Amino acid sequence: MLKFANYIKILFNKFIEFLFPPVCPVCSASVETHGELCGDCWSCFDWFDGPHCACCGYPFPDDYEPNPESLCPVCAAGKNELDYIRAACRYDDMSRSVMLPFKHGGRIKFARFMSHAMIWALRDVDIAPDLVMPVPLANRRLFHRGYNQATLLAREIARVYNAPIDFDSVHRKYRPNMGHKTNAQRREHIRGVFSVINRDAVRGKKILLVDDVMTSGATFDELARVLRRAGADAVYGVVFCRVVRVD
Ligand SMILES: [Zn+2]
Ligand SMILES: [Zn+2]
Repeated sequence: MLKFANYIKILFNKFIEFLFPPVCPVCSASVETHGELCGDCWSCFDWFDGPHCACCGYPFPDDYEPNPESLCPVCAAGKNELDYIRAACRYDDMSRSVMLPFKHGGRIKFARFMSHAMIWALRDVDIAPDLVMPVPLANRRLFHRGYNQATLLAREIARVYNAPIDFDSVHRKYRPNMGHKTNAQRREHIRGVFSVINRDAVRGKKILLVDDVMTSGATFDELARVLRRAGADAVYGVVFCRVVRVD
């Protein structure tokens, strides 16, 4: 009987696949698996697959041969509050073209390939997070947008690490958009927006923060600082894309 039920299930899935064949979420070319990018779209992103800072993942020039312990100047100066940060790709025209509709246009189907890329980005760090925490949105933004894009990314990551998602141990105050400001102004702007409302949930925990994009790192640093003050044992961060300074 069970076999028959399985058979029906397989037939049903085939039928659904026939009606809705898997397509690339960006360009709609046909692909093997639902939610994954086609090869052409994949090759348009600037994936971080070269040498990078052992701590924050900041990409080094391709011709640079660091040893695996090499740090970028920010981490070497002890100015990074997180134990590890990784990003899947560079913030550029291509990643912006998926990020904006993902964040503001309801294109939540991008979450699958983005979160898979973020899991790949964490390949060289040995972490076992107790909690996966999407960077909180202020309630007012959540209300207008209807969803927290970081939570959509966190789901698959939490499943892979077999860790629960923490949505509500940290509260974020609303502050109007900061627009284009210097890194120092961003840090000033974000200071004091996060407060831990459930200290028991984070005390002694290793926490993996999830966000879509990292600009100056000020948001991660401030959230990590607040979590550590509440007793978190370790704080890691992963984003889909990150701004790389052109020096
Ligand atoms: Zn495509
Ligand atoms: Zn670094």
